Amino acid sequence: MAQLSDDCFAFGGPMMSVDEAVALIAARVHAVVDLETVRLVDADGRVLARNIAAPLPLPPFTNSAVDGYAVRSEDLPNTSEQAFPISGRIQAGAAATAPLEPGHAARIFTGAPMPPGADTVFMQEDVRIDASGKVLLPPGLKPGANVRPAGEDIPQGTMALPAGQRLRPQHVALGAALGLTGFEVVRRIRVAVFSTGNELAAPGEKRAAAQLFDSNRVMLMAMLRRLGCDVSDLGILRDEHTALAGGLKKVAGEHDLILTTGGVSTGEEDHVKAAVESIGTLVLWRMAIKPGRPVAMGIIGGTPFIGLPGNPVASFVTFVHVVRPTVLALSGALPEPLVPMPVRAAFTYRKKPGRREYVRVSLRKGGDGALEAVKFPREGAGLLSSLVDTDGLVELGESVTQVEPAQNVGFLAYASLI
Ligand code: AMP
Ligand code: MG
Repeated sequence: MAQLSDDCFAFGGPMMSVDEAVALIAARVHAVVDLETVRLVDADGRVLARNIAAPLPLPPFTNSAVDGYAVRSEDLPNTSEQAFPISGRIQAGAAATAPLEPGHAARIFTGAPMPPGADTVFMQEDVRIDASGKVLLPPGLKPGANVRPAGEDIPQGTMALPAGQRLRPQHVALGAALGLTGFEVVRRIRVAVFSTGNELAAPGEKRAAAQLFDSNRVMLMAMLRRLGCDVSDLGILRDEHTALAGGLKKVAGEHDLILTTGGVSTGEEDHVKAAVESIGTLVLWRMAIKPGRPVAMGIIGGTPFIGLPGNPVASFVTFVHVVRPTVLALSGALPEPLVPMPVRAAFTYRKKPGRREYVRVSLRKGGDGALEAVKFPREGAGLLSSLVDTDGLVELGESVTQVEPAQNVGFLAYASLI
């Protein structure tokens, strides 16, 4: 399990910026050390444990990029079409071929190895065959055209994949191209997830009149799974000190991270803070982010604890900025900063300076074809429809105080956040 010091998440300032939060997590959270080997087909989403140097060049041998005729560049016609006798026929997968005689052309197919001596290929669409069976090659082709030299993609011995890479399908493909059958990866991070609140009923349970169904837990679990975590679903804890403290303490030893939602404000019925303080240490991060409210960070028996707010949108947004970097750091993954894409605002907005705000927006194409961000018409941090009916978040930096229509703003698609 991850073992962190009690003061790991301590922070001096009254309000923490999003950048400070991300930097503090990256600096203080250590990766778990257990590794395992997974087959390529199981590697998507896992975090690579070691640098991988290319054991062979890619492509492994020099080959033709097209179906056509291979020649020596010394023989290329200069000014007029020229007839070449055809010697040899080289298919993809052919064994080593004989050297190409000067003044000859070899019939060759895409992916076939270049015959020794040949370094240029004419596309079959650009040539003609004359009555005597010779191939007529036009002038003007550049030496080296239509050939894929060995190692042009990745030279042998160079770093092909860095340790900490979160593997995507293209990385798995590269592993296969290099002849690997699996990857050594960091083991999955084990995360315990609780909801807290007397007002919550689990779907499938009877819901009292003053209760709502717990939606955050499945949302957070789904987000964690997308980050490659093994998730323990630990249900709902009541707003009651003993239940909370007991429930949290029990899971600390077996998990790398404990995540809760709800109960972290400073109201009389917000018991998470006191419960964690009785079994570990806790700091409330007042983050300069909207939607947000305080996020609780702590350590229970060496295991990091994060308490997210209960409002679904606040829970979602703080997950992205606090849980995501923590999980990446615990998994040994390289930091993956969020990169907003420029789009044109189709809304007016006022905000206070000094905090970062996230506006839920849908994208549409403007009259000139440029992408425009349309703001969800309502603001509440409890509105699940605001997350469901939009495409992503517009990020408004700390110094921004207003947005006018046609202004450029940064857009983060939901798909890029997780
Ligand atoms: P809290 O942060 O505990 O004060 O919760 C704020 C509000 O978020 C509550 O009034 C609930 O409406 C809502 N809420 C809290 N927890 C959940 C949950 N697990 N699923 C859906 N809504 C929640
Ligand atoms: Mg509550």
